[in-house]
Order: sequence, then structure tokens, then C-alpha cells
Amino acid sequence: MAERISTPSRTREIIEANGFAFKKNFGQNFLIDSNVLDNIAECAEITKEDCVLEVGPGIGSLTQVLAEYAGKVVAVEIDKTLIPILSNTLADCDNVEILNQDILKTDVQAIIDEKNNGKPIKVVANLPYYITTPILMDLLEKGYPVDTITVMVQKEVAERMQAQPKNKEYGALSVAVQYYCDANLDMIVPPACFMPRPKIDSAVITLKVLPERKVQTKDEKLFFHLVKCAFGQRRKTLLNGLFNLGEFGLSKDELTAVIESLGWDSRVRGETLGLQEFAQLTDAMYDKLHG
Ligand code: SAM
Repeated sequence: MAERISTPSRTREIIEANGFAFKKNFGQNFLIDSNVLDNIAECAEITKEDCVLEVGPGIGSLTQVLAEYAGKVVAVEIDKTLIPILSNTLADCDNVEILNQDILKTDVQAIIDEKNNGKPIKVVANLPYYITTPILMDLLEKGYPVDTITVMVQKEVAERMQAQPKNKEYGALSVAVQYYCDANLDMIVPPACFMPRPKIDSAVITLKVLPERKVQTKDEKLFFHLVKCAFGQRRKTLLNGLFNLGEFGLSKDELTAVIESLGWDSRVRGETLGLQEFAQLTDAMYDKLHG
């Protein structure tokens, strides 16, 4: 086994030898704890059968470990100054390919087709926290063949993903994640496991992408639009959220009638609605708009 990149001394050595400066705007907090890295690969249940997509390899700490467990690793890194460093640190890993791109502009389907013959991949990452939600939403909404997503995120974001109605953490991200996936909190990771240290605790969460959506609706786009309206004005009622943000062309009385047709109080708040209720609301709105 090659020497691990992820010890604090080796990480410091690589950074200093290459004159690398951490870029805050790219969310660069590198992992320096080998046990955490093994735990991530084990929680993701990576085997030699797997093709793994890694977002943001940094200097390759997680990539190196993933390469030990996986058949193939494709890692997408936006920071061009890291590419020559990665060529060195991962020189011994012949099953790793690095792409110098922005993950939000990457054709993930093409990677899956070219590198894994269209078969489902696993996504593993210590995510850049400034774009956690767009990355996850992109992976989920586009419906790529992805088995599981195992990611390091801010602890508070992991809690939001698993939050249930009426909880203060519950919001649009909770609904989206739970609509597409079963989520499992794998571990809490303290700031000391990173260089530089972030200010808050982090968590690793595994999202198992379900073959079918958790609830069925007549119109998925409308479902997510309604979710956005419901949470767009936190302390307002669902009715006001739909009226102010929905742009449905319906009067307040018409929207009240839709809500009451479901047997709900018209003063109901969005944060009390679960997936099933959002699906019911979607179908009632769909019938009103198309009926
Ligand atoms: N995987 C490494 C580790 O665990 O030590 C680094 C993780 S660091 C939290 C996030 C990484 O994502 C950085 O290397 C950063 O440059 C990269 N990154 C930030 N924005 C990105 C984007 N839009 N597309 C691809 N990589 C990005």
C-alpha cells in the first residue's frame, strides 16, 4: 500500500513543496484523518466492481483511498493548480482519472456512459460546502444512474436532509432528498480532521437512490415548485406562499378552495406538510390548473 497522503505531516509537506495556497472560495478543507477516509469508503460499500465519481479530489487524500477500494475512480476538480499536484500524489494509482472541470458544468451522464458502460455509479465526496445543495440537487433531479451518494457535508445540512415535518430544520432540501432517497447518517466528523479546520462539525451521510420516487404525483415539476413556494416564506401560511410566489394566476379564494378540498385548514403552514401531503397538493393543483 502506498504511503497515505492524508496524514497531517504529509499533507503539509505536499502543500509546502508545491507552494499551494488554500482557496476559501473553492471550499478547500482537506481531510487529514486516515480513519475517516477508510470509514467513508466502507460506508459507501465500495468494492472492486464499482466505478466511483469523486467531486473535488483536492490533493487526492480521499481519491487515493477510493482507488484502493474501487475498480475505477473518476475525480472532477475545478482548481487547475491542483491538477499537477494530483498527477504526482496519485502517480501510483492507475485506476484514477482526473478531470479539470466544474462539477456543475460536467456531463455526468457522459462519464457514466464512457467510464462505466452506462451502469450505475457511486458518488463519493468531501463536498465543497458552498455548493452542497446545487451539487446534490443536480445529481438527484437529472435522474442519472447513481446507486448511492456518500458525502461529507456540514453537520447541520446532514440534519436538514433527514428532518421531518414540524422540525425547524425541515425544508425544501429535506423534501427533495427524501423524495429520491433513503438517507443514513454515517458519522459526525470534528473540525480537527481537516486542514484548514472548518468552524463547524461535519457529517458523512449516505443517500441510497431509490429505483422509484417515494410518492407519485401527476406533475413532478409542479411538486417541486409547490415545495419551493411552501418554504419560500418561512413563517407565512401555505396559502400566502402559493399566492405570493406561485404565479399560478389563481385568486386567493381559488387557492383557499384547493387547500380546503384536501380537508386542510386554509391557515396550514408549509413546514407541516410531509411528502404525501405535497403529492396530494400537487395533484389537486394540477387538476385545478388543467381541469
Ligand atoms: N477531497 C479532498 C479531501 O477530502 O481532502 C478535498 C475536499 S475539499 C472540501 C473540496 C474540493 O472541491 C476542493 O479540492 C475544491 O477545489 C473542489 N471544488 C470546489 N468547487 C468545485 C466545483 N464546482 N467542481 C469541482 N470541484 C470543486
